[in-house]
Amino acid sequence: MEILKIDHLGIAINSIEDGKKFWTDVLGLACEGTETVEPQQVTTAFFPVGESEVELLESTSPEGPVAKYIDKRGQGIQHVAFRVKDIEAALSELKAKGVRLIDEIPRKGAGGARIAFLHPKATGGVLVELCER
Ligand code: ZN
Repeated sequence: MEILKIDHLGIAINSIEDGKKFWTDVLGLACEGTETVEPQQVTTAFFPVGESEVELLESTSPEGPVAKYIDKRGQGIQHVAFRVKDIEAALSELKAKGVRLIDEIPRKGAGGARIAFLHPKATGGVLVELCER
């Protein structure tokens, strides 16, 4: 599998409106805009940082995966996303290696990316996202 770079860090937050002030006013990063991905019950805001980005994640529902994550572990880094050249090839390679996947088939993420998550039980506790853009 060819990993090109860390695409973004996903950070779970109660409110993008309140939470983005640190990233914009304090760190001076620009917000690329927000987008709601309804099937994942999440609103995202991206802040480009050099070759990578910070992604803030706010749940649109108390039942959403990001809300559940915050209930369990509090706000903070929720996932690491690697950009891969070919997401299907990466998933079939991982499957062949016996790695437990959350998504066996890529789904649609923010910004038109195709994404898939690996199970944290297979990665030493880190929720890993693969994305292809
Ligand atoms: Zn992400």
